[in-house]
Amino acid sequence: MKKIAAAVLIVVLSVSGVVPAFANGLNQPVPILMYHNIVDEGGEEDALNVPVDRFEDHIRTLKYMGYNSITFEQLHEYFSGGEGLPENPVLITFDDGYLSNYSHAFGILSEYGYCATVFMITDYIGSYGYLDGEMLVEMQHSGVFDIQNHSASHLYNLSDMDSARMRAQVAGAREVLEELLDKPVRFFCYPFGRHSSALRGVLKAEGIDMAVTTAHGAAKIGDDPLQLDRIRVFGFDTGKSLVNRIGNTTGRHAKPVPQDIKPNDEDMVPFQGTTDYCGTSRICLYVAENFVMDVVSIMPLTGDERILGLIYALYRPFWKKDLSLQ
Ligand SMILES: [Zn+2]
Repeated sequence: MKKIAAAVLIVVLSVSGVVPAFANGLNQPVPILMYHNIVDEGGEEDALNVPVDRFEDHIRTLKYMGYNSITFEQLHEYFSGGEGLPENPVLITFDDGYLSNYSHAFGILSEYGYCATVFMITDYIGSYGYLDGEMLVEMQHSGVFDIQNHSASHLYNLSDMDSARMRAQVAGAREVLEELLDKPVRFFCYPFGRHSSALRGVLKAEGIDMAVTTAHGAAKIGDDPLQLDRIRVFGFDTGKSLVNRIGNTTGRHAKPVPQDIKPNDEDMVPFQGTTDYCGTSRICLYVAENFVMDVVSIMPLTGDERILGLIYALYRPFWKKDLSLQ
């Protein structure tokens, strides 16, 4: 209904000679991709783990489709009315600070000339399976990665704590990273995507400019900068399914750019009849977030969109929050 109303508005405004900003490419929604761990080829494929060959397919396909990676610095500048963004911007994020961001993702991102942000849990620095201080410094200095704040301890109930403990978690992590990397750390990622007005107030007081959640969507001018939506990338996503989901979420399907790079699947025609695709991923994300990832393990079986649609339809009456498309 909202989509029809928006379409009518565009037609009316176009006929009257007024072209709304969002119709001519200004205020383009920015997809912020959410990755976690990159695993060896043939490894687990789920909501947290992406095999390295899949990751390469994602990055190569994004490149083929003309996506340009940006930093939070650039997004903040753009949202503040400053410099514009390159065409087809994409912001790549990695949560938690897995060692694989260094061992598996670094080389691929460098090869394709892409940058990404790592949200580091500072208590985990140097612990088994996570990045250590030396790697973080090398990653930051390479210009490929920007290291940002994912709190000190990644506490599930951070958003419900008293403000002194919230402050300690936010400011403590920022201080560790600022001292290690010798640069400002002004962007934050909520542990488990959970936030509250109290926590957002603490972020504001601590000088955090932008924060990302795990809610599905793209970042748009006018959004609360402390509640930016993201697009979760699954281990079973192909380059093509990822690019399609980005297109369906932002409302803008990129077109292949003539270049040497070829994706595994050159047929990039957007999936047909997939306006529900975001909806189906949303319900799967909702289920995943609320039933502790168990259900995600069945998702490789549900790659077929008709099955995703069925899950969507079955769960719809039981939704506790509004997940409808905006
Ligand atoms: Zn996390």
